[in-house]
Amino acid sequence: MNIILFGPPGAGKGTQAEKMISHYNLPHLSTGNIFRENIKNKTELGKKVTLILDAGKLVPDETVVELVTDELKKEKYKSGVIFDGFPRTVKQAEELDTYLQANGENIDTFITLNVPEQELIDRILSRGQGRSDDTPEKIKTRLQVYRDETEPVLNHYKNKDVVKEIDGVGTIEEIFERITSALS
Ligand code: AMP
Repeated sequence: MNIILFGPPGAGKGTQAEKMISHYNLPHLSTGNIFRENIKNKTELGKKVTLILDAGKLVPDETVVELVTDELKKEKYKSGVIFDGFPRTVKQAEELDTYLQANGENIDTFITLNVPEQELIDRILSRGQGRSDDTPEKIKTRLQVYRDETEPVLNHYKNKDVVKEIDGVGTIEEIFERITSALS
């Protein structure tokens, strides 16, 4: 089962992904986590993307797609994956679809978490993860980037009839319950 967990920054993708990992026994692929890990370990990739993440902009499609397609070759993804924070552009979505099709697979479900913008900002500012891109100014940039470049990915998958829209306001448990019923 290949699932995309989609939504703006602060929508709760990471939190819900964590719960889905154990519930569905699927691995999680978060491009943001991979980039942060590379920055922490000062790898070549980390050096390449540090300033981009700091600014709240998007890493170039080519770099992201190469990273994801390499990662997906690992044995742990053989039964499926929960994508979190990827794809973030229509180009990435198209490349992902092509890659999956070449392997006889596709995206089974695209879950999008709907949360009003003010709540997104409040959540990010209060989550206190110490992320360098969690400042009011960077959040503004990330939301703008989301609207301009990422939101069109929703329509891309609506055309494929795999989208489940989930109300992302409520407790973590309530939202998780909505996700599991949408997937059942
Ligand atoms: P996230 O943890 O998903 O919020 O991602 C943090 C940052 O990593 C984003 O603001 C981007 O700079 C970068 N990033 C993560 N995933 C992608 C992606 N699929 N495409 C481009 N940039 C990404």
